[in-house]
Amino acid sequence: MSPIIIEPFKIKSVEPINFTTPGYRRRAIEAAYYNLFLLKADDVLIDFLTDSGTAAMSSKQWAAIMDGDESYAGSRSFFKFEDRVKDITGLSYVIPTHQGRAAEKIVFTVMGGPGKVIPNNTHFDTTRANVEFSGSDAVDLPIPSALETGEYAPFKGDMDLDRLEDLIKTVGRDRIPLCMLTVTNNSVGGQPVSMKNIRETKALLSKYEIPLFLDACRFAENAFFIKQRESGYENKSVKDIAREMFSYADGCTMSAKKDALVNIGGFLALNDASLAEKARSLLIMTEGFPTYGGLAGRDLDAMAQGLDEVLDENYLKYRIRSIEYFGEKLQKSGVPVLVPTGGHAVFLDAKRFLPHIPPDAFPGQAISVELYLEGGIRSVEIGSVMFGKEVDGHFKPAQLELVRLAVPRRVYTQSHIDFAAEAIIEVYKRRDRVPGYRMTYSPQYLRHFTAHFEPMDLNKDCPS
Ligand SMILES: *Cc1c(COP(=O)(O)O)cnc(C)c1O
Repeated sequence: MSPIIIEPFKIKSVEPINFTTPGYRRRAIEAAYYNLFLLKADDVLIDFLTDSGTAAMSSKQWAAIMDGDESYAGSRSFFKFEDRVKDITGLSYVIPTHQGRAAEKIVFTVMGGPGKVIPNNTHFDTTRANVEFSGSDAVDLPIPSALETGEYAPFKGDMDLDRLEDLIKTVGRDRIPLCMLTVTNNSVGGQPVSMKNIRETKALLSKYEIPLFLDACRFAENAFFIKQRESGYENKSVKDIAREMFSYADGCTMSAKKDALVNIGGFLALNDASLAEKARSLLIMTEGFPTYGGLAGRDLDAMAQGLDEVLDENYLKYRIRSIEYFGEKLQKSGVPVLVPTGGHAVFLDAKRFLPHIPPDAFPGQAISVELYLEGGIRSVEIGSVMFGKEVDGHFKPAQLELVRLAVPRRVYTQSHIDFAAEAIIEVYKRRDRVPGYRMTYSPQYLRHFTAHFEPMDLNKDCPS
């Protein structure tokens, strides 16, 4: 058979996308205060803003939507969903939520609070916000190579175990109610965590009796990377690898909008009965009754089906290869991308892409705006807009300045990817004429969603 990896599906239903002119896009981005979250989606040609909730569902998932049981309590769809989650995670209590952050909100309300410290290989933005909102400190402990965007390493998502042990010794185990491990590690580039690292993280935490929770949004992509890159796993099924990953966890939070291939949904699963009890009480107040948790019965049914499909190895091979193909095409033209490419996105290294723009003039934001102007492409800055801070009146930049091009699951074909890569290469060619940005408005939490910007004058405002 040909070595070419093709989309492992055919298309049954199509949705048109809108073509716009450069002049139109200039007006649209100005009206959106240069924040791509504030654009109308209809004004975007290829949307790489996120892989969250943007997947194309399969015909079987749509059939499951029709078959969903909308009973308030004891819905058949819930039991189907619960069985599927237990089968993969082995965790005892499964609590549906409307998306991942609702599960996080419950976990940190129940387990977090003032004075507590939550370690994670790297907190995702909503996770950090929920930890901090509860009054706890969110501590990121990525391995050093995670910050070297040009350096290849197979498992850049790993937790730095030396720093984790130092942290436990410094703050004391009593202040650490749980430790999180994000698989794949989204904020450092969708990079996988090795089984060895998951196992060793668990072993270290066990010594101090600290529970381990997986932020499991992309567990299937992570499991596939383990199969490809970690010795001893090449002949195991992705499902068995996923099961082993979860076997080290005492609980997990999940955004089903990622690796459950649905447009809305999430869950919390855990082993501790008294924590599950507390979580359910909170769930009833904020999300809904424990057998639907903020979702319709049909959503639970579609999730159950999606959790099955996502572990199909032909799907995962196509998924991971299409991201890699995108990254390779950019690298061939010299565009600085984070290597290796991760599971769900290609990340541009904005520091190397726009060396003339300092972090406080938001080089990632500058690239994002330019990609929209060039090709109607929507990406997201993951850098100082998202993670930068004002500390005592001084600007503290993020560790990395990245632009994420997250690829929705099963939505775009190879020619969409080729078109996008060419637009990015065009912007790279004229990079010395791209201006920096200043933030003119920002809210207290999760500022990247609603902040306003304006372009700086390239000649006057940019320090050399
Ligand atoms: C998306 C995501 C979340 C939050 O999930 P939502 O469904 O968007 O609320 C948490 N952690 C990680 C790693 C994510 O990618």
